Amino acid sequence: MIVLYPGSFDPPHLGHLDIIRRAAAMFDRLVVAVAVNPNKPPFLGIDQRLELLRGLVAGFGNVTVDRYQGATIVYAEAHGIRVLLRGVRSGQDLEQERALAIVNRSLGGVETLLLPAAAETVHLSGRLVREALAAGLAVDALVPPAVAAALAARRIP
Ligand code: ADP
Repeated sequence: MIVLYPGSFDPPHLGHLDIIRRAAAMFDRLVVAVAVNPNKPPFLGIDQRLELLRGLVAGFGNVTVDRYQGATIVYAEAHGIRVLLRGVRSGQDLEQERALAIVNRSLGGVETLLLPAAAETVHLSGRLVREALAAGLAVDALVPPAVAAALAARRIP
């Protein structure tokens, strides 16, 4: 089964990597798709997010990284993918994902699988990483080493 894991990954963190690792072990193929939102300036540019994610998945033979703009189900259909994967950290995530899943199935015929966050990474979000950086804190415990290095380099004027 081919599964699509969409998100903003801004920046990629250990919670994302945990979902990728578990999904890579479960499915034949996983496509990590970075959503480009032209209306919202990102923290990390799309090219840097793609590069970091490609580095993170390099060790998995069945995971690829791509970008898309617009509706996730349109990308899925164009690539012959019928299943989305989303991570769930909280009841709030679950409610949002449940609503999205219903819409995506009724409008696109695309099913959604939800994977509960691991205990070790359930507290992580892109926003937490961005806020920690803005507060001048080290984020080595929140992101993979390559991402930490890229974020540290970014802070040097
Ligand atoms: P974030 O919320 O960290 O900014 P995204 O918006 O890029 O992440 O979300 C991409 C997908 O990854 C979503 O399905 C989201 O629920 C999932 N995800 C994000 N953080 C975690 C985490 N700590 N554990 C498991 N899944 C997560």
